[in-house]
Amino acid sequence: MIQISALPAFTDNYIWLLQDHASQRCAVVDPGDAAPVQAWLAAHPGWVLSDILITHHHHDHVGGVEALKQASNATVYGPASENIPGRDVALNDNDSVRVLGWDFAVYAVPGHTLGHIAYYHHGLLFCGDTLFAAGCGRLFEGTPQQMHDSLSRLAALPEDTLVYCTHEYTLSNLKFAAAVEPGNPDIAARLEKVTQQRQNGVMTLPSTLALEKLTNPFLRTAETLVTQKVDERNGAQNRAPSEVFAALRAWKDKF
Ligand code: ZN
Ligand code: FE
Repeated sequence: MIQISALPAFTDNYIWLLQDHASQRCAVVDPGDAAPVQAWLAAHPGWVLSDILITHHHHDHVGGVEALKQASNATVYGPASENIPGRDVALNDNDSVRVLGWDFAVYAVPGHTLGHIAYYHHGLLFCGDTLFAAGCGRLFEGTPQQMHDSLSRLAALPEDTLVYCTHEYTLSNLKFAAAVEPGNPDIAARLEKVTQQRQNGVMTLPSTLALEKLTNPFLRTAETLVTQKVDERNGAQNRAPSEVFAALRAWKDKF
């Protein structure tokens, strides 16, 4: 059985903790800071950190790797084409890794960074800073076309896939989504729900792909109302969904 929980880090990061109760081994995804993981391990004697999964090279995702590896001797998995501290297993697109007895497919999802990867196991998606709840990562290294392709690839996974991204950005993302589609009732309802959750300090993750398809503007670039909104702002006719994506991303960067 898979148990997944979140260890909050910094101001808005989540380090995902995967627990295999049969073996009392656990894994973490993107430990930008070692301290929350070490605190959890100290509070749960008997548990062994055996694996560390990394999606991309940014400090808030890899900052804790070396300290954790030293303390636990965990195996570190990360993208082959990026500098990942302590990496033991270099991963490429369509690789498969076995962690805690579970098979994860590896997908290259360039855009936020060029080497960014995502991990997928039976309806569970760990996608780092690529797909966010109601948003997507900034384009630090890749092109809009690359990110659009990456998001489309993730969106093609089963609708009930749980989306475990790294940041609690859902509320601000939904405010943008509501500006893009003021008449979308799913966005309005989610905005209301997430506003409540954040007021109560409740985590808004994981999301589902089904919900993302209804409320995430970056997955809705083929929707007429989204294209029209972008055309209206840019005074031009955007044709390809990737061009609509590029315009949305540029708008969000300044929102
Ligand atoms: Zn990042
Ligand atoms: Fe990040």
